[in-house]
Amino acid sequence: MKRTAAHSRTRMPIALILTAIALMALIGCGAQTQTSGSRQGFSASSLDDVASQQAQAPASIAAPSQEPATVAAGLPAQANGSPTVCIDAGHQAEADLSADPIGPRSSTTKYATAGGATSVYDGTPEYQINLEVALKLQQALEERGVTVVMTRTVNDVTIPNSRRAQIGNEAGAALTVHLHCDGVDNSTSTGFSTLVPGQNQWTEPICEESLRAGRAIQDAVCAQVGCADRGLVERTDLTGLNWSTVPALYVEMGFLSTPSEAQLLGTDEYQWQLAEAMADGIVIYLNS
Ligand SMILES: [Zn+2]
Repeated sequence: MKRTAAHSRTRMPIALILTAIALMALIGCGAQTQTSGSRQGFSASSLDDVASQQAQAPASIAAPSQEPATVAAGLPAQANGSPTVCIDAGHQAEADLSADPIGPRSSTTKYATAGGATSVYDGTPEYQINLEVALKLQQALEERGVTVVMTRTVNDVTIPNSRRAQIGNEAGAALTVHLHCDGVDNSTSTGFSTLVPGQNQWTEPICEESLRAGRAIQDAVCAQVGCADRGLVERTDLTGLNWSTVPALYVEMGFLSTPSEAQLLGTDEYQWQLAEAMADGIVIYLNS
């Protein structure tokens, strides 16, 4: 993995922050998680809604034939300041099973924040791993000259998925990235996938740009990290995408239901590899 001197300098503060977060989680946390829902309607699955639906609907988009992702040096100076990227660490310490419309004015609802997956390797909850990677991605992007807005920096929050999208909207983000891990009913699935908005009554204005961002991130991660490439998947049922008025996507960073990948996802080194590669992909998108 490639770490910069800047990371070495800041490693201790990050370690302290993560330790503090872990302590807060032990003391007792709040509530929340992401929307779920499915094409079949309201889902009460205890698994990550996003992941379980993805397993049911592998509508993969053919990988584009593009040149391999290259390491981006950073953004050129911008006349109007640096672009903003919104990072959402998926889920929260306590699921929020209240109803959250899957899109503006929709009568279809999903959980405001579903529970998420759990590492079969050591029991670490998905919301914790998502936040650890989110904080690394924040640092990696800021080092590349990107302004970052976080939907959360601790686990003890209650933020419905519709609200998470609106945080990115209100920030005028060039992109909102929702970080998740997969959890399915087998112990062998592996790899990284990116979920982009499919066309519906809400997403039409953001589909093209979201897909472009998704390709850049998926290509960069698969080229740099060496994980299995599960490709891009269009989704029309994700609250976090349907409420977004700015380009948006979900990354499913790996499977917490597969012991070897669950172990990797829990390590600082692999989290940094993912964060650096995603940051490179995001900068490629912002520069294109
Ligand atoms: Zn999730």
